[in-house]
Amino acid sequence: MKIGQDAVVTIAYSVREKGGDLIDSSDETGDFPYLHGHENIVPGLEEALIGKDVGDTVSVTVPPEKGYGLRDEAKVFTVPKSHMPDDEEITVGMEFHAEDRDGSIRQVTVTKVTGDQVTLDANHALAGMTLDFAVEVKAIRAATPDELDHGHVHGEGGHHH
Ligand code: ZN
Repeated sequence: MKIGQDAVVTIAYSVREKGGDLIDSSDETGDFPYLHGHENIVPGLEEALIGKDVGDTVSVTVPPEKGYGLRDEAKVFTVPKSHMPDDEEITVGMEFHAEDRDGSIRQVTVTKVTGDQVTLDANHALAGMTLDFAVEVKAIRAATPDELDHGHVHGEGGHHH
């Protein structure tokens, strides 16, 4: 079986900023299973894996448009410290969940603390980055009807619920 729509694919991977530092690797988190064709992984990597077989390796450079998107400076905003949870000391790098005007929850990262003002960034941490992925295909199987229904992998390394 080769990789295509609705395959459950297990990969070992590493990702670094193009020409830069290692960002993430399955050496630390374990082999990663995903459901192909369901936006479980970034589009640029998904495209590069189509038609691959167990044992194949893929090296691909993914631009932001096919990765985690471009940075949007409109998603950077400043709030008074008094709007932050007051049981915590606010420091750069802290992550919070904030409610949008439209009520949706998104993750924000503290990028600056100046006096009583806190700058928050709701961009994905990898937005705007060109990423170098190195991937080895470890296993491929057909998805179960439940997995297709849910749009993600169940079992080892996947969702348990
Ligand atoms: Zn599920």
